[in-house]
Amino acid sequence: MIGFPVDELLSEEECYRYLKRSLHPEGLFCPNGHELPDDQAPHDRRRTPIVDYRCRECGAVFNIFTGTVWSKTHYDPSTIVMLLRGFAKGVPTKQLTDEMDLAYPSVLKRRHRIQEAVQQGQRVGLPGEAPKDGLPDPEVEADEMYQNAGEKRKPHRNLDDPPRQRANKARGRGTYENDRPPVLGMVGRETGWACFRVCVDTKEETIRRTVAGETAEEACIFTDENRSYLWLESEKESRSRRAVDHSRGWAEDRDEDGIREIHVNTIEGIWTSLRNRLRRFRGVHKDHLSGYVAMFELAFNHDQITPALLQRMCGM
Ligand SMILES: [Zn+2]
Repeated sequence: MIGFPVDELLSEEECYRYLKRSLHPEGLFCPNGHELPDDQAPHDRRRTPIVDYRCRECGAVFNIFTGTVWSKTHYDPSTIVMLLRGFAKGVPTKQLTDEMDLAYPSVLKRRHRIQEAVQQGQRVGLPGEAPKDGLPDPEVEADEMYQNAGEKRKPHRNLDDPPRQRANKARGRGTYENDRPPVLGMVGRETGWACFRVCVDTKEETIRRTVAGETAEEACIFTDENRSYLWLESEKESRSRRAVDHSRGWAEDRDEDGIREIHVNTIEGIWTSLRNRLRRFRGVHKDHLSGYVAMFELAFNHDQITPALLQRMCGM
């Protein structure tokens, strides 16, 4: 694939200022919370424009990356901006490291830390995503997707059993254990906000816990015919359920008014996007899948990168 590196065209000063104002919109503070006066001169300028300050109150030495996933980084500001951009947009790590001439293992490790930070920061309730108590929508589509996520680049030893056939054999209910972890997705029909959770399996208890945690108590949940959603039909459950029977078509007209209102088409389309994104990574280990899925969720729910999103990516 042709390279077209642009990071060297970026101004390091401009990238530094962008990161500084994005990560610290309220100004800089030392690790102990003392505010840095505007006029205070840097303590160490050897890595300009990344400079270190020494707190006059407590003596702590810090810079704009202290307390973030980039603390003690040796990357230039332009490299950090390009990496953050690439991670957010789902650019494969190999492509980024080839283009910017960086070491693959350390960038991959950084990516995983950032994706874990994004996952931990889910549901803080930024505009464009579900608040702490879950999707507010009265109608939510829920569905599962199974992602092959085993050991990366495992050699295919048996020539009589080529990969494609073996993959087909693994059809059906995937679990974390058998390297096909299910991703449970929920999309609010009103807000359009989505959340995705990697689950260990699709047993009723797992589905119940996840759906209950991510949707409003009175929500109507639109699902396929999977029996793991039967609990929604219990009288004790405040949520309700409408199920589509895939064998009878994508939508059905249950109340016979000519409108086939039950469908899970929105989320089916989203699975195509998620599959396309994950395919570019040529195999994601199951232990890191939730991080990649969390980053997909962030990218899905937001049209534009914002300081708050950058702070989340940087683990602040
Ligand atoms: Zn201090």
